[in-house]
Amino acid sequence: MNYITHSLGGVAAGLVVIAAGNITEPAQQATVMAGAVLGSLFPDIDHRQSWIAHKAPVAANITAGLFKHRGAIHTPVFVLIAGILLSLLNQFWLQNRAYPAGIFIQGFIPGMISHLILDTLNVQGIMWLWPLSRKRFHLLSIRTNSVMETVVCMVLGACLYGQYTKIF
Ligand SMILES: [Zn+2]
Repeated sequence: MNYITHSLGGVAAGLVVIAAGNITEPAQQATVMAGAVLGSLFPDIDHRQSWIAHKAPVAANITAGLFKHRGAIHTPVFVLIAGILLSLLNQFWLQNRAYPAGIFIQGFIPGMISHLILDTLNVQGIMWLWPLSRKRFHLLSIRTNSVMETVVCMVLGACLYGQYTKIF
């Protein structure tokens, strides 16, 4: 999926976290949302032509050099590792700082999960069982930037608008 669809997936993940966690403080809601949208775009750091790669070219060049696109970075195990590392970083280093990193991470990880779910709707799929199996799973056969992706993007946008007006 392209970065617009993934961002909407990130917004959806952010809304779920805000609603489930009953987060009412506007600054905290904004931090969760920022984390969720960034998390939703992050896995494509393994693709040099992605939106996030253009924003962080050095990181993208290193990551894309080490990992195949839709490889290890696009797996639940990687999300789990990222979650553990970010939580440790927060617990031992960031927690005493002014910036509310913990709440950002609460959005970032679900945002990453939304990326995996949306990429599963693409024909290429992702390796849900890695490292046990390299088999790629896909639920639909949507091609990135196709008319079908635009339809998914518009439906997602409409649903989010409805949910947004309910929550806020
Ligand atoms: Zn992707």
